[in-house]
Amino acid sequence: MTEVPGFFRHPGDGWVDCACGRRHWGLVGAAGLLLVRRDAEGRVTEVVLQHRSLESHQGGTWGVPGGAIVPGETAVEGALRESHEEAGISPGAVRVLGEHVLDHGPWSYTTVLAEETPGTVVDVRPTDSESLEVRWVPVDEVTDRELLPAFAAAWPTLLAAVEAA
Ligand SMILES: [Zn+2]
Repeated sequence: MTEVPGFFRHPGDGWVDCACGRRHWGLVGAAGLLLVRRDAEGRVTEVVLQHRSLESHQGGTWGVPGGAIVPGETAVEGALRESHEEAGISPGAVRVLGEHVLDHGPWSYTTVLAEETPGTVVDVRPTDSESLEVRWVPVDEVTDRELLPAFAAAWPTLLAAVEAA
């Protein structure tokens, strides 16, 4: 596995040897932002996905913007900071709806469920080298893409949770 020194930018960046037998990114866990857009009837129509850089772990796949939590940060703070760094998403344009936690014991991943603040249109774009592309993707086209395996596994649950939120 290639480790790119430039990715170690914050306290909390690093690998955890997990009880599940795999290694995960984020010494105190990781968090990502699942940001959705709704239509006038409140149905979820689009979600922000990040095409992850080839240098990243399982690079070239699509997932949500996010990364390692900095010690002392909440998962929400970490997800909002990372999505601002990586995708230009302004925290003020986002309304947090809830959190979904994948708990592996020594490591966890929190998906922060969020929607555009009503009346706001959030433009997204890659704002650092961790993304090849960041874009709004129609929800019914998400599984057409090659997804990060962990995100692919969680997607039906996450979509149901954000639709119900
Ligand atoms: Zn694990």
